[in-house]
Amino acid sequence: MVASVIDGKAISQQIKDEVREEVKELSARGIVPKLATVIVGDNPASKVYVRNKIKACAETGMESEHISLPEDTPEEELLSLIDRLNADDGITGILVQLPLPPHISEEKVIRAISPEKDVDGFHPINLGLMFSGELEKAMISCTPAGIIELLLRSGVKPAGKHAVVVGRSNIVGKPVAALLMQKWDGGNATVTVAHSRTQDLAHITSQADILIAAIGRPEFITADMVKSGAVVIDVGINRVPIPESERPEGSKKRHRLVGDVAFAEVSEVASLITPVPGGVGPMTIAMLMKNTVKAARIQHGLVF
Ligand code: NDP
Repeated sequence: MVASVIDGKAISQQIKDEVREEVKELSARGIVPKLATVIVGDNPASKVYVRNKIKACAETGMESEHISLPEDTPEEELLSLIDRLNADDGITGILVQLPLPPHISEEKVIRAISPEKDVDGFHPINLGLMFSGELEKAMISCTPAGIIELLLRSGVKPAGKHAVVVGRSNIVGKPVAALLMQKWDGGNATVTVAHSRTQDLAHITSQADILIAAIGRPEFITADMVKSGAVVIDVGINRVPIPESERPEGSKKRHRLVGDVAFAEVSEVASLITPVPGGVGPMTIAMLMKNTVKAARIQHGLVF
């Protein structure tokens, strides 16, 4: 079997196009979704992420406001800024880019954002709504929500399937497992969650109809760990050095991105697979845009 490749770029573009239509509709009713992005410090990766998020706002017709604070900003100052953004009716979504400098508690910052404006879906209220199955009211974090959208839009219905999630982080593993087990279109799967203490991982992964790898280890999932015909979603983003012998002449590229799945060999076994890059990655920003519109709807009483 040779797997078909799920095109995350195309699917994320579809979602952004739908969001643009929704933004138009809302704007006609006088509701303008607006995302506030906040960065503390000079982390180059964070700057790239936020630049892409601002670009996506423009692409989808949303407004955005960016606030850049110096690395040594006191925690109190960031918390008061969040209070101000919470109270500002013109701002419908707030995103504080993580990681924060070590003197600022990420937990406090996440809890300070009003749950209705928490477009990252990290606030315990939103996690609680999601875990209790109130999915329409919850802001669901973007990567897990993106994984479910990728499945559904590729014609994969999780209902009745055995989904194995490798990884139990709060931002990917746990929430995607929770979504897959809920009673809804994107759920009703039988879910197994594996992690670094799991024994005989290959035995478990090879029972998966849907295998989700969110581990952070390059090409960790190999063909012998995958059932024939499985759907494989690779969340991992790992930067690995390119050996000198493999660098094209004159190329300055020293690293490449690989996922948690050994793409070439697993493609020989799976029925559907996501590539890295171009799989789950682009979905995260598309779902952020979707969440920003949802937040605007919730704040205007348009979601019940
Ligand atoms: P974390 O490091 O927080 O979690 C990794 C998980 O993998 C942990 O639960 C860990 O287990 C488990 N794990 C580690 N080693 C093994 C092993 N040998 N066997 C089984 N399980 C193992 O990572 P994240 O969840 O934040 O991210 C995972 C990957 O996804 C990363 O590559 C990250 O860059 C990428 N990512 C991609 C996003 C996107 O938009 N595409 C968004 C977010 C993340 P334990 O809990 O026991 O330590």
